[in-house]
Amino acid sequence: MVAAFRRDAASQSSLVHELAPGVYFREAEPAKRIIANTGWVVFRDYVLVIDANYPWGARAILPDIKKTTDKPIRFVFDTHYHADHAFGDSVFVDAGATIVCSQECTAESLRKNPDQWNNDKGTGDYSLKPYRLEHPQISFQGRMVLDDGTHRVELIRVGPGHTIGDSVAWLPKERILFTGDLVVNRPGNNLADPDADPDGWVRALDDLAMRPVAIVIPGHGAQGTADAIRGDRDYLADMIQQVRSGIARGASAEELAGEIQLTQHKPWGENENSNKVSIRAIYAKLKK
Ligand SMILES: [Zn+2]
Repeated sequence: MVAAFRRDAASQSSLVHELAPGVYFREAEPAKRIIANTGWVVFRDYVLVIDANYPWGARAILPDIKKTTDKPIRFVFDTHYHADHAFGDSVFVDAGATIVCSQECTAESLRKNPDQWNNDKGTGDYSLKPYRLEHPQISFQGRMVLDDGTHRVELIRVGPGHTIGDSVAWLPKERILFTGDLVVNRPGNNLADPDADPDGWVRALDDLAMRPVAIVIPGHGAQGTADAIRGDRDYLADMIQQVRSGIARGASAEELAGEIQLTQHKPWGENENSNKVSIRAIYAKLKK
């Protein structure tokens, strides 16, 4: 078994990693504007994909999935509605899949994605013109479980945090957690969504850190362990606390962006410019 597994792994794209039997993740490929990680789980009769990526990402990912299994892709779970995770939905629908996300994620897709899709300025290989916007067709409230006896995947809404509808995919047997953008494992944290909820985000990470997680696949950045959840949480919580106390003593957003030190949180705080962007975003939300 082990020898066969190794041989299979060697024949795969170097971007694809088998985390446990039948559980895969494909690294992002920034040079091809495939910026988010993608996962998939091979059940007895079908495949569940975690995050559809951009349409050009979905087109690159489909053959990588096919190299690992000949089973049909039945479901695609989007961790949240953002373009880099969900705009490839139509590519998977055309391949026979049904899109699943939390009911809040579906509502956000319906409310916010049409404008974003229509205002897209991408050109060449990165134009949305050849594709269409597909919204999720199955929406779950709170939790949805896929379990056929070989695998169990729990889709759990833990937002609002990065967005309102943020959900994770948790594999309790393998102790693998696909977090979407609630956890990244690289510098920065994206608080740009108008509905991002900084305090809710920290609560969600505290909740996730209680689970016996062995492997974390973040929305962006390298495979990690539970330390990635805790490290990202501490970075965010430190930033929020410093912004809040700055507001209390009457500091401006620019003063705080200039003085708050976060570079000790590695890798999350290493990029001072993205720290400043996040500090300003948190300031605007907390100042309301
Ligand atoms: Zn993302």
